[in-house]
Amino acid sequence: MKIAILTSGGDSPGMNAAVRAAARTASHYGIDVVGVMFGYRGLIKGDFVDLDRNSVSGIIQRGGTVLKTARSEEFMKPEGRAKAAENLKSVGADALVAIGGDGTFRGATILSKEHGINVVGIPATIDNDLIGSDETIGYDTALNTAMDAIDKIRDTADAHERLFLVEVMGRHAGFIALETGIASGAEMIILPEGLRKIGEIKSKLKETLKVQKRSTLIVIAEGEKTGGAWHLEDQLKEDFGKYDMRVCILGHIQRGGSPTAHDRVLASRLGYEAINAIRDGKSKIMVGVINHKCVITPIEQTFGKIKEINFDLLKMAKVLN
Ligand code: ATP
Repeated sequence: MKIAILTSGGDSPGMNAAVRAAARTASHYGIDVVGVMFGYRGLIKGDFVDLDRNSVSGIIQRGGTVLKTARSEEFMKPEGRAKAAENLKSVGADALVAIGGDGTFRGATILSKEHGINVVGIPATIDNDLIGSDETIGYDTALNTAMDAIDKIRDTADAHERLFLVEVMGRHAGFIALETGIASGAEMIILPEGLRKIGEIKSKLKETLKVQKRSTLIVIAEGEKTGGAWHLEDQLKEDFGKYDMRVCILGHIQRGGSPTAHDRVLASRLGYEAINAIRDGKSKIMVGVINHKCVITPIEQTFGKIKEINFDLLKMAKVLN
């Protein structure tokens, strides 16, 4: 038996730990492994690299992905996927392990339908927006990175008694904004899911500023619905012009860095379970962890629907912050 492994879409810390676990588990069972460089783009080009126990040594603690990643327009077209399928068959791969987010799984699903390829997904995206796993690989690290950065912003905000609008990642989902907002004690959290009208935001901010002595932090998810931090600043300028207001976009630092212990363990579990699932004859599935247990979900059911944030946490944040 032989399996191919790729990482695709946005990188997330812990992808390497998942590659390592899948390669080592496969090797343990005498299954050959081939890595695909640069995700679907490399699959179309036939950019393969042999993987074994030793070639994945020393990567569990590294951020990014040793297999590299890419976004591929060509893979969105049937001709691109036909080339990818041909290349998988030519290296003798019986299954493809795809490590990535919802786009990666959409692509894997279509590839499987069109060409009968067995695909197994491992959820890895800092956005945490996939159904079928309580958490995705990289989310916890991104939370901690954002929290550390916001703690530092708090120091300087306190020193100058400033109002900071801090934008974190999450175009469609507010998971990062919600949990980093709670963890850093932000005075206000603005999410795509719990979106408030600008009038509401202004009156809450007025109340906050009345009692707030040192600094005020608003954590806002980037994105189409919220409009992001610059847009919010524009809307607040008129009424809050007398405050020393600053914008900070955390950006790509949230994707990088050494994965937390939590992400390394999650990635190790999921890499291991992906190979077990293939050995058990499972196909077109994603492996995930729900309530601390490994679970399998049909890959088609992992994207398309909105994964809900925990609204109880949002309610709590409004009381605590
Ligand atoms: P992240 O959530 O971190 O951004 P992702 O896996 O969602 O990761 P995308 O860029 O959306 O990242 O998707 C990765 C790749 O999957 C795309 O570049 C494309 O090649 C492929 N893909 C995405 N959607 C489709 C689709 N509908 N059909 C075929 N391929 C797709």
